[in-house]
Amino acid sequence: MEGTAMTDAEHTRPTERLWTPWRMSYIGGETKEDGCIFCNRLQKSRDIESLILHRHEHSFVIMNLYPYNTGHIMLVPNQHASDPAQLAPAALSEMGALLPTLTNSLRRALGCQGFNVGLNIGAIAGAGVEAHLHQHIVPRWQGDANFMPILASTMTIPELIPVTYAKLRAEIARELTGSNVVRFVLLDSGSERVLLHNGKVPEAVANPDQQAIQAIVSSLPPHLNDFTLTGWAGLDSAAMVAPDDIVLSLTATFPDSVPVPWQLVETSDDSIDPAAREIIQRAIAQRAPAR
Ligand SMILES: [Zn+2]
Repeated sequence: MEGTAMTDAEHTRPTERLWTPWRMSYIGGETKEDGCIFCNRLQKSRDIESLILHRHEHSFVIMNLYPYNTGHIMLVPNQHASDPAQLAPAALSEMGALLPTLTNSLRRALGCQGFNVGLNIGAIAGAGVEAHLHQHIVPRWQGDANFMPILASTMTIPELIPVTYAKLRAEIARELTGSNVVRFVLLDSGSERVLLHNGKVPEAVANPDQQAIQAIVSSLPPHLNDFTLTGWAGLDSAAMVAPDDIVLSLTATFPDSVPVPWQLVETSDDSIDPAAREIIQRAIAQRAPAR
């Protein structure tokens, strides 16, 4: 795999740099945990915390917490198996079918120009978690070999992980549902006020090639500043992919007023309709400090 993973951009650097960091992923000393890291996360119910982006029937998609490049994700069979020969044909075909969904999502979310996709089978091939197969999908950009070490270290800053998670989860959900409608909870810095539209959580309609976050920003009323995407405000379970559950959480600096039918409402206001209140509460909860 190491040889075939080479691209033009990598000719100037050692081959193993592309693959060796994955040997350390998750199993480095400080991240050591009992049991299989993939099975552990699959069994937990908290998908946002586990960085699970999507659960399908036989496999799931998870972010690599120690990515080699921004947007490094893994497609993992649910079955704890070390060799593709142990997997059911349905699992193998599902993983193949999910690949274009994931590359399309990553391309739109991150503007990447290419990918390295691969399985390391066995420790000798560089598998960090050799007992449980996992297919790496790593976005690539022109010239990224030059600044990749900077990106890689930047991406381990905890507060950025929820942002990448939210972007990827939104784009994967769009690919799977075919919906381009993205809802958003826009809060002020103290989560004291929220922007509503006709009393509801606002929504934006993205062009098919447009990032969800771009569609949101271009739909906003004037005089809102300092936008920051803070996380995912849809349901926690990544198994529930529904067109109306693509929800991002943002913060901004609010003006004194916004034009009708926009409204700036106190988040504690009892008159907010229950459905909107639930989504707003999720967005606020997601702003809690990283674990
Ligand atoms: Zn496992």
